[in-house]
Amino acid sequence: MHYLSTRGGIAPIGFADAVMMGLATDGGLLIPAEIPEVTPDQLRAWAGLSFQELALEVMTPFIGEEIPREDLRALIDRSYATFAHPQVTPLVEVGGNRILELFHGPTAAFKDVALQFLGNLFEYLLARSGGRLNILGATSGDTGSAAIYGVRGKERIQIFILHPKGRISPIQERQMTSVLDENVHNIAVRGTFDDAQGIVKSLFGDLPFKSAYSLGAVNSINWARILAQSVYYFHAWARVSGGDPERRVSFSVPTGNFGDVFAGYLAKRMGLPVERLVIATNRNDILTRFVRTGDYAVGDRVYQTLSPAMDIQIASNFERYLYYLLDGDSDRVRALFEDMRSSGRLEVDASHHRRVEADFAAAAVTDEETLEQIRSTYSSSGYILCPHTAVGVHAARGMRDVVCLATAHPAKFAEAVGEAIGLEAAQPPSLQGLMGKECRCIELDATAEAVKGHLQGALEAAV
Ligand SMILES: *Cc1c(COP(=O)(O)O)cnc(C)c1O
Repeated sequence: MHYLSTRGGIAPIGFADAVMMGLATDGGLLIPAEIPEVTPDQLRAWAGLSFQELALEVMTPFIGEEIPREDLRALIDRSYATFAHPQVTPLVEVGGNRILELFHGPTAAFKDVALQFLGNLFEYLLARSGGRLNILGATSGDTGSAAIYGVRGKERIQIFILHPKGRISPIQERQMTSVLDENVHNIAVRGTFDDAQGIVKSLFGDLPFKSAYSLGAVNSINWARILAQSVYYFHAWARVSGGDPERRVSFSVPTGNFGDVFAGYLAKRMGLPVERLVIATNRNDILTRFVRTGDYAVGDRVYQTLSPAMDIQIASNFERYLYYLLDGDSDRVRALFEDMRSSGRLEVDASHHRRVEADFAAAAVTDEETLEQIRSTYSSSGYILCPHTAVGVHAARGMRDVVCLATAHPAKFAEAVGEAIGLEAAQPPSLQGLMGKECRCIELDATAEAVKGHLQGALEAAV
């Protein structure tokens, strides 16, 4: 399989290069040259497979000969052995709702599904190429810990995660800083999340530095993350439908950067019988407004909500969908993102907007509605939703045959849960005892120079 850029500015590359490149060098996102099709017979045959076996089948056509089947199988098995549930992503019935629990990985959030795989994949590809990768990122919470757990202890990889000192939740901070592997570097910067992100951007913008030190990112634009996430749509569909290709299922997806729901769109394009994909957003509703109006317009600011992993201004994976909506017309994609850069908005015409409405439903859910959903689900069934999941469940009210994706364990968001129902969810083993663990973290001023100097020193010492 070859990979192209949504903006048409790169020569076709293979899967391994696409994974290592992350963002396309022309500023676009990487997409496969074609979307493999799954037949009704395959859907029937796959219905009895385990998550790991299914992952092997779903991923293989996107990877082709580049990774031998037995190697890919081993990578998948290793990646999901860290999950605490034998089904990896179990589907549970909760008072008439179907909840797809994606939070049984080591950091209790759905990002583990993709990042456990991506970490092993990076290690495998680097061993083959003899290269090194130094991951740099800033986090306001969940992504940093999932990325650290994805690559801890891996050969040829170092990871540097910046967080704003004292401004992330104590559990999230401990999840990251209690990882003591030598290749993990936690940096608390004396500033805000925006300061931390600004530093990362400026170091990535320093191209000589970036290439001399093999800097890379693990953000949600990496194609391998999308691919790994599409697997659980197939897995959930099989359990609802029993493998009957006539049976269509909808999914409600708590959405921020559009990675998760795009994985569902990919599954649908491959031939999975998906009825509707519901984009569930919080008050940061750029995507909901787009589905309603065809106008994708940046709001005046990012609102802080009870579902912080979805507090985004622009959805970084949206460009992939736009590419498919415009039938692969890269020139048009590029022109629209030019509009976006100059005016903060882009718009599709009426006929394309009708296709958007056929692909997605969307709803923006307020904090009050989120709390109300946690409360009503708990009182009717005793099941506790995390606030992100509650946004998705609320958005799917009244729909039939819908699977709601549960993106985090409720114990990670004790404050919101406490506000809703006056008690805390029991912690999964991965979160227990965290506060008593030994930690390692260094503190730096919130300047690019300070972080750059630290990186240079640490990387020279690590070689
Ligand atoms: C990252 C995240 C989301 C949003 O997923 P996207 O792929 O960015 O749309 C939702 N819920 C939780 C708990 C997350 O960590």
